[in-house]
Parts: sequence; C-alpha cells; structure tokens
Amino acid sequence: MKYISTRGSAPALDFEGVTLAGLASDGGLYVPEEWPQFSEHEIAAMAGLSYVELAVKVMTPFVEGSLTAEELRDLCTRAYGRFSHAAVTPLVQLDQQQWILELFHGPTLAFKDVALQLLGRLFEHFLAKSEDHLTIVGATSGDTGSAAIDAVAGRERVDIFMLHPKGRVSDVQRRQMTTVRAPNVHNLAIEGSFDDAQAMVKRMFGDPEMASSKGGKFRISAVNSINWARLMAQVVYYFAAALQLGAPRRKVAFSVPTGNFGDVFAGYVAAQMGLPIERLIVATNVNDILHRALTTGDYSAGSVTPTAAPSMDIQVSSNFERLLFDLNGRDGTALAEQMRGFEANKAMQLTNSQREGAARLFSSARVDQAAMSQAMSWANAQCGYVLDPHTAIGFQAARDAGIDAATPVVTLATAYPAKFRDAVERATGVRPPLPARVGDLFERTEAFEELPGEYDAVAEYVSKFATPSA
Ligand SMILES: *Cc1c(COP(=O)(O)O)cnc(C)c1O
Repeated sequence: MKYISTRGSAPALDFEGVTLAGLASDGGLYVPEEWPQFSEHEIAAMAGLSYVELAVKVMTPFVEGSLTAEELRDLCTRAYGRFSHAAVTPLVQLDQQQWILELFHGPTLAFKDVALQLLGRLFEHFLAKSEDHLTIVGATSGDTGSAAIDAVAGRERVDIFMLHPKGRVSDVQRRQMTTVRAPNVHNLAIEGSFDDAQAMVKRMFGDPEMASSKGGKFRISAVNSINWARLMAQVVYYFAAALQLGAPRRKVAFSVPTGNFGDVFAGYVAAQMGLPIERLIVATNVNDILHRALTTGDYSAGSVTPTAAPSMDIQVSSNFERLLFDLNGRDGTALAEQMRGFEANKAMQLTNSQREGAARLFSSARVDQAAMSQAMSWANAQCGYVLDPHTAIGFQAARDAGIDAATPVVTLATAYPAKFRDAVERATGVRPPLPARVGDLFERTEAFEELPGEYDAVAEYVSKFATPSA
C-alpha cells in the first residue's frame, strides 16, 4: 500500500515510511492512495473473530509491503494483551437503541491506548529493521502524554521526552506519566503554560541542531493523531461493534466525542471500506469549530474555552484535513491552497463538494456543560451506568440525533469515568474509584525533571539523554 500527502507534493511512502514520518514533508497528512474494499460477504465472514484476529483482517491491506500478516498478528497480540477486558473493546447496552463501546480498558484508561499500544510496538519493529533510533518529543495537557509514555516505556531504540506545564495537569494525569519508571522515559515539568511547552516542541522539530530532517542529530518524531498508524488501529473497533450488532445485514450509527477528528475519521475510513454505517455523529463541547463547519461550512478558529471534557478543548482539528482532501476529489494542490488560506486567516469556507460530501455521512451536535451533566445523571439514574464527561457529550448527541428507532446507535466511550472523577461526582453524586490495576497510583514514586520555560534548557536536556540517529 502506498500513502500520499493531502497537500500533493511530498513523496509517496509505504506504511513503514508513514509510521516513522508522522507528518508529510509538505505539511500535509498521509492517506492511503486508495481505500481498501471488503465485500458484504467478506465482512459477514468476520463475525465472531477475536479482537486480534479482526484487527489483522482489517489492517492487513494497509500494511501490505511493510509487515506480514504474522508480524502484524504478533504485534497486535502483544498490544491488546495489555487490555484488562478479554473483548478489548466491549459493547454495553444502555436501552433499546443506545449502546456504549468501551474503549478505555487499556493501561492508561483512555481510548488513546488502543492506537498507541500498537504504535509503540510498530516503532520498535521498524527501527530494529533499519537499525535507527527515534526521539519522540511531545507536549501534553493530559491523556496523550500518559498513553504515549506507557506505549513506549522500555521499548528498544525509542526515547520519549514528554513536556507538561508544571502544576497545570491533574494529579492523576501527572502521576500516570511520572510513575512510569523506564530509562527511555523522560518527563519534563516546564515552567509556563501548555502553549509554551507546545511552542518549544514545534521549535525543536525545525531546529537544525536537533532535527535530522533539518541536518541535526536526532530523528525527532511525534505521536499525535496525525500519525496514520493511529487512525488505522482505530478503524478496527468500528468493525468490531457493527459486527456484534448485525453488520453487514444491519446498519449501525456511531456517536463520537470529538477533538482532533481522529477517532471519527477512523469511522469514515471503515465506511469507505464497505462497513454499512448509517451515520457518524460528531459530538463537540462548546469548542465547536467542527459543528459549525459541518452545519454551515464555516471552519474558523476562535479561542479555546476550558471545559470538564479537556481532551475535546481544541481550536483546530488536524485530521479534518484528511476528510476535506477525500471530499475534494483528492486534489492536493487545491487543498494546499485552501489550508494555506486557513493558516493565514484562521478561517475558511468549505467548498460545496466538501459540504455535500460530509453531509452524506456526518451530522454533528454541540453539547454544553448543562446538557453534558444532564446526560451523566440520566445515564446513572436510568441505566445505572456512569459516563465520563467526554462520553457524556457523545451520548447526549446520540440521543438527540433522531436516528430511526430500528437502527442501533453506538457511543464511543473514550475515557474511564474515574479519570475525571471530580466532574463525574459533581454531575451524579457518585465518585468512581480507580480500577484495582492502577489503584496504587498515589503510592508510587514519581520521577520528573523540572526545567525553566526556556527552549535552550529543554534542547540541552534532550541532547544529553537522546540517542543520535544512525
Ligand atoms: C483524545 C480524546 C478525545 C478526542 O479524540 P479525537 O480523536 O482527537 O477526536 C475524546 N475523548 C477523550 C477522553 C480523549 O482522550
């Protein structure tokens, strides 16, 4: 399988190449040259497979030429063996029509584990082949940092440097990062805000002393959801849920708590591959750029309002570019122009073909704080089920979407409620306990380095502990 950039001028790469590259060199995102297709018959034959076997079936066309089915199976077996539920992503029925797909049984209790546990192993596999070394640098305000650290801790040929704004992440989130003890994990508590930390990471990617792509010493890479391999891993659970609910015979709708548009884009990919999806509901909080884009065509960034669902507090949804590309006749030149306009003005209009194309499969909803709390208390009172704030936004959107009563609606549950227990307690009166396997989080020893909010201090630290590229 070849991958091409949404902006049309970066070289096409194979799966190994896009996994290690992350972003394309022309600033675009990689997508498969064409969508693999499964026939109705092939999808029907997937029913009853274990999660790992299903993952191998769904992902094989994407990794062709870079991994054998055996290698893929081995990586998936190890990645999903770390989940605490045998079904990996179990499905729970809340009422006649509404279902919850629990994606939070991984080591850090957020859905990001599903993709990152695999990505960490893919890095290790490909780096062993090329005998190279990768330096992952990231900034986090919460979930991504802990999931990425867990995914690469102790892996060969990878070092991770995760910057967090000192004193500005929750105790649970910080401890999930700083109590992972492995020689290749470096937690850096930086003076300043998340944006300050993020700006340093961006600067390092362009630093000719540091980044090998600019002539520097280290092969610096990112683990955010612009990496195609992450999206690919997420396609699998759409198949898993739909098959359990009667696909391909019966259509299923999905409601997805959305931030960077990675998770819901994986649903779009599943639909392109032949999975009969009735509708994809893009659920946002008050940071509603995607809801505005999908309802009016106005894609314009404002300023971020902090909410109780922080992983959805975004201004710009990077993966939306992949959809806009696919709906624009895959014209990379035109899309590069459109994105340049957006980068200059922080605003753009969707074209008619983008709007109409999106409307065929997507609808959207904006769920504010009050509606989110209501959804949490309703689910708890009526179904005895505790939702985290992100999932509650998806669930509220699912109930309001007006989907035909004969069609099951699956809300993707993106975080374990105990990760956001203050917000859960405020809405429901229930304070969910941390599960036993992470229950000793507050007894574990933390390790992190405190650094001033100065780029040079961070670059010096990374230079000292990272391994140069081969
Ligand atoms: C990352 C995240 C989201 C948003 O997912 P995207 O792929 O960025 O749209 C939603 N909920 C939780 C808990 C997350 O960690």
